[in-house]
Amino acid sequence: MQKTVLGIFAHPDDAEMLCAGTLSLLKGVGWSVHIATLSPGDKGTAEYSKEEISSIRRKEARSAASLIDATYHCLEFEDAYILYDRESINRTTALVRKVKPAVVFTLPPSDYMVDHEMTSLLVRTACFCTGVKNMDIGEPPFEPVPWLYYSDPVEGKDTFGNHVKPSFYVDISSEMEIKTKMLECHESQRNWLREHHKMDNYIISMQKHSKERGDEAGTAYAEGFIQHLGHGYPQDNILREILPEYIMVNQP
Ligand SMILES: [Zn+2]
Repeated sequence: MQKTVLGIFAHPDDAEMLCAGTLSLLKGVGWSVHIATLSPGDKGTAEYSKEEISSIRRKEARSAASLIDATYHCLEFEDAYILYDRESINRTTALVRKVKPAVVFTLPPSDYMVDHEMTSLLVRTACFCTGVKNMDIGEPPFEPVPWLYYSDPVEGKDTFGNHVKPSFYVDISSEMEIKTKMLECHESQRNWLREHHKMDNYIISMQKHSKERGDEAGTAYAEGFIQHLGHGYPQDNILREILPEYIMVNQP
């Protein structure tokens, strides 16, 4: 198995909010880490042009990734226009084929923003199509289909406001410092939200959610995940082998 993990999310800062602790743990056991976003976050501003904020946020995402020696990729779609269509499926699948991950993390199918949900669908299809021969997208097919995991939705709530119960937790207590530093790299978002909320909501909300998951898992801080277990995808939870001391499984 190639020890490569890909966290592929919609916007710069999603990975840092939702799975950076787990990515950092994987880095610690010798995995090479890739972080990708479908958009450069071109609408996350009240002051800059699309081009300016995209360039700022690509740099912020690259700085955050560099803290765990991860490689950053941007697929250059636009915020609010992440679509489940032919071009997007091809571009997403081509990235997955290029990186050749054994493990993939992405956003869950039900989340607060449609960009997140479309990302989830695109990554699901991209993983399914890694080995499909008659899909000529400039990158050769590979097998097997990666292990696919969905992060928590933002605030742990689905589209209807229901709290989502993860199927397992990763204990990230040892990684909270680096996770916080990674999120702090997204200065433009932190400042923007600080102006909106008049407090440092950005960092606080990530820490609060990680602590809530930690309380549920019986540790200080945790990240919650649900594994994609549809036909054609790996059925065992490989993370239990890779990070045995850090995985807590939720009893049904
Ligand atoms: Zn997002």
